[in-house]
Amino acid sequence: MTDRRKLTCVHRVPNPIEANLLKGLLEHAGIPVEMTGEALVGAYSGLPKVGDVRILVPDRYLGAAQAILKDYENRIEPPAGDPWPCGACGEINEPQFAACWHCQQARSD
Ligand SMILES: [Zn+2]
Repeated sequence: MTDRRKLTCVHRVPNPIEANLLKGLLEHAGIPVEMTGEALVGAYSGLPKVGDVRILVPDRYLGAAQAILKDYENRIEPPAGDPWPCGACGEINEPQFAACWHCQQARSD
């Protein structure tokens, strides 16, 4: 009697395509997922502003679901670091470069 399934919103996304992707990720990990708001998005797809899709999981899967979503977000983030100015010529270089693309001066921090 007390085994009523309680769902908690673990994440909200603005589009149903990403929601389905995340749902697939969670279900692949064995977590049952429900979504709300998807029908609403479809019904109002002609409008520029639509409601978020909510991803719901049972309470006992909340921690596991959050860990998976955090891992997913870390993977889509751009490379860490800031653009750096070359000490020799002053050119601004992307963070992934170890040497200046303009004059080949090695990066020095
Ligand atoms: Zn340079």
